[in-house]
Amino acid sequence: MNEIILIKNGEIALKGQNRRVFEDALMKTLRRRLAPLGEVEVSVAQSTITVQPQGEAFDFEEAVNRVSKVFGILRFSRACIARKELGDICEKAAEYLAEPLRRAATFKVECKRADKTFPLKSPELARELGGYLLSRFHHLKVDVHNPDVLVVAEVRDQYAFIHGNQLPGAGGLPSGTAGKAAVLISGGIDSPVAAYMMVRRGIGLTGVHFASPPYTGPRAEQKVRDLLAVVAGYAGRMPLFIVPFTEIQEAIDAQCPNELFTVIMRRFMMRCAQAIARKEGCKALITGESVGQVASQTLDAIVCTDAVCEMPVFRPLIGTDKEEIVQFSRKIGTFETSVLPYEDCCTVFTPRHPRTRPQPALVEQAEQALDVEGLTARAVAGARLEWIK
Ligand code: ATP
Ligand code: MG
Repeated sequence: MNEIILIKNGEIALKGQNRRVFEDALMKTLRRRLAPLGEVEVSVAQSTITVQPQGEAFDFEEAVNRVSKVFGILRFSRACIARKELGDICEKAAEYLAEPLRRAATFKVECKRADKTFPLKSPELARELGGYLLSRFHHLKVDVHNPDVLVVAEVRDQYAFIHGNQLPGAGGLPSGTAGKAAVLISGGIDSPVAAYMMVRRGIGLTGVHFASPPYTGPRAEQKVRDLLAVVAGYAGRMPLFIVPFTEIQEAIDAQCPNELFTVIMRRFMMRCAQAIARKEGCKALITGESVGQVASQTLDAIVCTDAVCEMPVFRPLIGTDKEEIVQFSRKIGTFETSVLPYEDCCTVFTPRHPRTRPQPALVEQAEQALDVEGLTARAVAGARLEWIK
């Protein structure tokens, strides 16, 4: 049976004159994500986006899976196509929705007639279709307030579309409609989840990863690519900058008090990420920090780190527990990769007793032993750009 996907815009329908912008972004994302599955037409009319396969080869099940991951879609339906005749609409509805109707106790029919030349008005069509379904499924009862299955028939220009209950979409806002931010991405559990959360709100991503060869190896870098590839499943393709961090870490290790190593290192991460973010047109940074989780994430450490940031730092996980973050990472599909045991640059020089309440003045004084600008500039200049799909 010919199937299509119908998307009624949830939150984005509320955005007044921005609606066109959101719809266009959503359709662009849909086309990009569905194109690899075969020929498909994505069009919009009356704030409903229609995804219509053009030919048999199209992988419809995978299309449903991909649509369920596209942000900016609150709910969607898979629908079948019928000819614009009462007989065909009734038969197709009974066949297409046989399984949910068999399992249901109650149902309701709703009809919409976009083509006003169709001979039956919406209430008449609903009555006819409802009567037909009752004659085919004897156990069913009509419940107009809280039906188990809502059967919808929409008579459009060329065809009628029939669908049952809607499926949940990913929510959020369409990719890239909220501007761009640079995510500091480690190989850990937290930062991929943080990236996902900002993508869900329409933020476009640039990845920044710090690597310290030979202390960290190629497998740690691959882990980051793999994690971002999962995030790209929601966000679309994105640039990743791999920043050489060895010189900075060795300099801090050699010249600064050991207990301040972590906070100074994190300030360098922010400086480098910010420089890359500016060049890439990003307006904010994103990290996976959660307050108090580790020594570098105490309130005082965060204050010290933020002191070198001139752009806002988004920390969407700041008030979450590790357990909640783990659940989230399982849900979005990053957990298994995140727990692979490869060394991250953060764990290489970690002091045994990091200062949990660093004072900005002491940190600034310690940094005077370093060529902060030169180290930052060299790391940024040495960054390697890759594209994650
Ligand atoms: P994660 O699970 O994201 O690694 P974490 O709990 O291990 O977080 P830290 O390692 O202290 O915490 O890092 C805090 C944040 O700093 C990370 O969420 C990430 O945004 C950033 N970060 C840490 N290491 C790197 C790195 N090697 N490259 C880029 N960003 C990093
Ligand atoms: Mg980490």
